[in-house]
Amino acid sequence: MVLRGSGWIEVIVGGMYSGKTEELIRRVRRAEYARLKIQVFKPKIDDRYHAEDVTSHNQNSVSSIPIENSEEIWVHLKDDTQVVAIDEGQFFDNGLVEVVQALAERGIRVMIAGLDTDWQAKPFEPMPTLMAIAENVTKQHAVCMVCGDAASRTQRVAQVDGQVVVGSHGIYEARCREHFKPEVLPPHVHAEA
Ligand code: ADP
Ligand code: MG
Repeated sequence: MVLRGSGWIEVIVGGMYSGKTEELIRRVRRAEYARLKIQVFKPKIDDRYHAEDVTSHNQNSVSSIPIENSEEIWVHLKDDTQVVAIDEGQFFDNGLVEVVQALAERGIRVMIAGLDTDWQAKPFEPMPTLMAIAENVTKQHAVCMVCGDAASRTQRVAQVDGQVVVGSHGIYEARCREHFKPEVLPPHVHAEA
């Protein structure tokens, strides 16, 4: 999927723990092997593991530029950048849509990873719009913590306020459609063997 000369938008979505960040890092590494010029961005809000790195739940990481909003990409963008990777796209303002369109128009390959739905399984903008305008969409699944099936939802398992609550263990759990409820549920405790 490496393009030269032509711009392109690719989106990686799925619930929490579905391996979005892992996949983004894998694509960034491949672009590095291709000796492409890459810049990685993430929202400042996401400092779960490291203020500067994009880090997956299994501690893979790549260095990145933390930014406050989508417009800030223009401040940091270098003239010779060929690939732009953005993690946690759902934490950005809707202006991200225009920014990535403009980047692709310039011939840049843009990849964005993020949650397609929030903790109530509602579309989480700007990811759904990005999915619509992208050339390529990859939808990933985690493993349901109740039954082990493919998980498409992110279950909130701790009482917290608002759509945006950054965190992972103890607050969110991967669930399949059957075991997901759009309300706060207690964490699933596996029965002792
Ligand atoms: P995302 O960015 O989609 O939240 P990451 O790429 O950061 O996901 O992390 C994916 C990793 O999370 C998996 O490789 C695995 O090691 C770990 N993990 C933890 N819980 C689960 C789960 N319920 N299903 C799948 N992977 C899980
Ligand atoms: Mg992630």
